[in-house]
Amino acid sequence: YPEIKNVADIVRYNAKNYSDKPSTIFCDHSLSWSDVHELSSRMANGLSAEGVVATDRVLYFAGNADDYFLTIYASAKIGAAFIPLNWRLSVPEITAIVEDSAPKIALVDLIYKATWEEVQTKLTQKIKTIYIDPGKQADNPFWQWASKFDNSDPHFICEGDSTAWQIYTSGTTGAPKGVELTHAGIMNMRLCEHLEPAYTWGANDRYLFCVPSFHLLGLGLSMQAMYNGACIVIAPRFDPEEVLAVINAHKPTLMGLAPVMIQFLLDHPNSANTDFSGIREILYAGSPISKGLLKRAIEAIPCKFMQFYGATESGGAITLLRPDDHYSDDDNILTSCGKPLPLIEIKILDSEGNALPANSPGEMVILNPAITKGYWNKPEAWSEVYNEGWYKTGDIGYYDDNGYFYLIDRAKDMIVSGGENIYCSEVENCLSLHSAVAAAAIIGIPSEKWGEEVKAFIMLKPGQSTTEAELIAHCKGNLAGYKCPKSVDFVDDFPRTGAGKVSKKDLRAPYWQGQKRAV
Ligand code: ATP
Repeated sequence: YPEIKNVADIVRYNAKNYSDKPSTIFCDHSLSWSDVHELSSRMANGLSAEGVVATDRVLYFAGNADDYFLTIYASAKIGAAFIPLNWRLSVPEITAIVEDSAPKIALVDLIYKATWEEVQTKLTQKIKTIYIDPGKQADNPFWQWASKFDNSDPHFICEGDSTAWQIYTSGTTGAPKGVELTHAGIMNMRLCEHLEPAYTWGANDRYLFCVPSFHLLGLGLSMQAMYNGACIVIAPRFDPEEVLAVINAHKPTLMGLAPVMIQFLLDHPNSANTDFSGIREILYAGSPISKGLLKRAIEAIPCKFMQFYGATESGGAITLLRPDDHYSDDDNILTSCGKPLPLIEIKILDSEGNALPANSPGEMVILNPAITKGYWNKPEAWSEVYNEGWYKTGDIGYYDDNGYFYLIDRAKDMIVSGGENIYCSEVENCLSLHSAVAAAAIIGIPSEKWGEEVKAFIMLKPGQSTTEAELIAHCKGNLAGYKCPKSVDFVDDFPRTGAGKVSKKDLRAPYWQGQKRAV
């Protein structure tokens, strides 16, 4: 849509073309596109009156709500950068992000008031705060504050390279870094998607937003839906029971999920009484999905599935495993993350930086037009991973003779045992195909003989049982001996990052105290 040149234009365009159509549904009330346009203009004028100018940052410390989209559009309308804070973080972690980003104003959910007040006592400079009571309208202090301001669009024109969103990475492999995504990059991502025939989203769709608001998966996919004029059905959080109830009540047609969420939905007893028939497409991304879980999902939910591989830094999807691929005769395709989207290139490099041929694992390095302009306040960290347009993902993968990419591990999680590289995904996929296994995570633990040896952590399917010996025997029947777990622990869940990813760092920690891994 040529009229949409920046994030704020999404609401302008839709208010013009779909004025009375619902834009958001949250807590059983709905806002039309003209409501969102008018309210976000009031909020934008309010932010300006509080002294927020272009290039300032606006912190959003609340969960999934219509207020989230209002804040995104209000910030964009005055050229300020929007920061969705991970509400799961501790006071010191939040303090570090607030110090790093120095927002001009913070919009804070009343349920986090005590945490925020504690954070404020630790800051070098207090941050102007407006509280939100998500789900309320007339009684919402955010809306009451906004109602004092004019509803005319400020009509600020954002420069393409100005930052629209500053998203802190989930910290799976280190301290969170503020990834700056620009208006031009976000629009380029929309262009890559637009050129991809597998995308068929439109103004009659309803997108279920249940991924945490602070993760690009939630933000990027809901913006993709809004860009196409679709309505966003908002679940306040990812609670399997609540999400299944929202599916029954509001009949979304599209869903974006992290793999673990698919597992939790399928494992929940209410999934048997949930009407999935309205769902046309499920997009999943953000972490590896095992072949076992994917096969289970395809059998349980009759819809199209699409997988993305991407990172916060890439500004969205890099590769796409298309719906048809999910029904290929060759089920090995289910372990692929697909092919690059239009306008995106991927190289596989060895440790010296040489490009590798097909079927040779190496680091995945990408070139795409949606890439971040860098890490806020951390140019050195950015120059370590970015070189002349190419971003080093830190992921190990390869491509096959048909151009499908396979992501086999994060470089930092790969296990080296007796000089052999063991890629977690291969072993985790094998374990996931055992009938009792819901999810598997493997790590390397210290071994005097081999340097590292494989240890598995297993979540069982509800009502199923198996033993360590049986799972090791299952692996020995399918994998080379050195890749098989030497020990297995059964767990209710894995330690996870705020975005729900398995935190291998935390799984490894008790075994590596005082010792350094070679990887
Ligand atoms: P940090 O950068 O702080 O360590 P993070 O890497 O988890 O955190 P994100 O940008 O949220 O930050 O995640 C990107 C990573 O998620 C990718 O580099 C990749 O390892 C993983 N990932 C994303 N999509 C997929 C997928 N489809 N399959 C497997 N892994 C995926």
